[in-house]
Amino acid sequence: MSTSQIINTCFLTSSTTVSSSSSSKRSSFRPCSATAFARISNPSSSSSSSSSVPSLIRNEPVFAAPAPIINPTTWPVGDMGNESYEEAIEALKKLLIEKGELEPVAAAKIDQITADLKTGASSSGSIPFDPVERIKNGFIHFKREKYEKSPALYSELAEGQSPKFMVFACSDSRVCPSHVLDFQPGEAFVVRNIANMVPGYDKVRYSGVGAAIEYAVLHLKVENIVVIGHSRCGGIKGLMSLSDDGSTSTDFIEDWVKICLPAKSKVKAECGGDSPFPDMCATCEKEAVNVSLSNLLTYPFVREGLVKKTLALKGGYYDFVKGSFELWGLDFGLSPTLSVKDVATILHWKLF
Ligand SMILES: [Zn+2]
Repeated sequence: MSTSQIINTCFLTSSTTVSSSSSSKRSSFRPCSATAFARISNPSSSSSSSSSVPSLIRNEPVFAAPAPIINPTTWPVGDMGNESYEEAIEALKKLLIEKGELEPVAAAKIDQITADLKTGASSSGSIPFDPVERIKNGFIHFKREKYEKSPALYSELAEGQSPKFMVFACSDSRVCPSHVLDFQPGEAFVVRNIANMVPGYDKVRYSGVGAAIEYAVLHLKVENIVVIGHSRCGGIKGLMSLSDDGSTSTDFIEDWVKICLPAKSKVKAECGGDSPFPDMCATCEKEAVNVSLSNLLTYPFVREGLVKKTLALKGGYYDFVKGSFELWGLDFGLSPTLSVKDVATILHWKLF
């Protein structure tokens, strides 16, 4: 006899500071073994000084891109300020005009950028944003503050991973689960996509998601799959804004968020169209998580894990406006003879 139970808990989160071992035995690991940067490191620039810049970084171009696309050597190097940027912008304008794709909005944006450069201003301050510098500094910070301070952890992770969690989270830059839930390296196998959606089993349309679930469940043997929604989700807003006539204006986005159409239908039916749109979106952000949990049951290896009780499914919701995190779990014992339809029905009644 199957049973189904939903456990709802709600608790507040607060930002936490990552703490790690204070050990810094540099000799106990090989710095070139962990990242792609290892392949571009210059051994001759290595230094034994712990205060020097990590040797994995070198401040010069590494990848040979086909000229004249992004090869900086084709640009003037004397005045590293406006001139090279302006030339690049002019080249971009020319390319777009030649292709007949210089939309008014894009043209206006380019003009704005050009004006900013001429006045020495930018949208983020007086110094133009340098993505290479940002990435370099980010890795230096990570290497010094985390990698080098936890040699045991990173040595262990070099041999393999055994995460307890598989996490589905939105691609939204504000909701990284490693920050929000303080997951450390090796703890969570993460898939991020628009609106943290899990499509139903489909070997053709959604093989990427299916491969990740299959790998997590069968090879990594994760014990929990957590689908985490969040506040003010643009993907859910897009879902709730879909036209009823089925027409679309995007190549991918609308088709993707339709995965959770049942959530939209439920919200619209229950709200009756009287609720403010933002409220309906907020409700849908949670209902879409439930649809994804239901969709997980269409994967045979997920069902098998649930039956054997080696796997559990959980829904989560991170509200970055209130600073809260809500978690709900599915705790149900399934008979192996139950069909997907039966299971889905159970979930439907319990969740919706
Ligand atoms: Zn989102």
